[in-house]
Amino acid sequence: MSRDFEGKVVLITGAAAGIGREIALAAGREGARVVLGDISENGLVEVAAQLQQSGAESVWAICDVRKQGDIDALFAKGQQKFGHPDTVFANAGILGQPVDVWAQSEEDFTRHIDVNLTGTWRTFKAALPKMIERKSGTIVATASVAGLVGAAGLAAYVSSKHAMLGLVKSTALNVAAHGIRVNAICPHMVDTPMLDRLFGGDAVIRDTLKAMNPMKRNATCEEVANAALFLGSSRSGYVTGTHLAIDGGHIAQ
Ligand code: NAD
Repeated sequence: MSRDFEGKVVLITGAAAGIGREIALAAGREGARVVLGDISENGLVEVAAQLQQSGAESVWAICDVRKQGDIDALFAKGQQKFGHPDTVFANAGILGQPVDVWAQSEEDFTRHIDVNLTGTWRTFKAALPKMIERKSGTIVATASVAGLVGAAGLAAYVSSKHAMLGLVKSTALNVAAHGIRVNAICPHMVDTPMLDRLFGGDAVIRDTLKAMNPMKRNATCEEVANAALFLGSSRSGYVTGTHLAIDGGHIAQ
């Protein structure tokens, strides 16, 4: 196993479940000290316990990415214990139930934008001034294949993820000369609680969509975390302002 994050500080939003949880555990296995933020206290406690079992140090705070104050407090807690993060994974995101564009409430639409897009921007805002001062740092945002192609019934989610890629590219250009890299991962379907909620236990829809993927399966959280860690580490030292699709070939079709 590589130890690319030995001695590094890593901060993750949406760290209590699914992809964020796996990024946290994988970073811990690679030697990182981990700062965990999420709205689920129970989930955070579990991930922190798992990190401790694997010999990794961590600190956590309840952090709703809809609130700049929560994000700033998470960074402050991490700073106090370990120092400013070397790598930030802006991962927190939501996906509501499918709904036609004309039937969606404004509240539901803006909720997706607030968490997925503005929450990512708020996280960037908290991360960057210190990274600029230190002239180093990497940021990886969890976008989606929904940032690259449309999906009927998921307009709010798709819009938020497309806009995230614009945010990633513009921020990367803004900070490249300061030695900071900003990239995105674009997973297709990953077996997480989010996907379970989307299908609501409907095995027929789930299997139909799986069969449409060239690899005939979903991604594992581990496969997604590996890609995220690659972009967050020095292994990708000349990669910035771009995205990596983790999609089993889905968008190559
Ligand atoms: P998940 O729902 O399984 O886990 C998401 C975590 O984010 C949860 O712990 C949740 O409590 C937390 N969260 C939700 N709202 C939050 C908020 N306002 N502030 C802080 N934390 C919050 O989801 P997942 O599948 O692991 O998704 C993680 C990221 O990956 C999301 O950005 C999602 O859009 C993206 N993604 C997921 C898939 C997939 O198929 N699962 C595919 C592509 C992209």
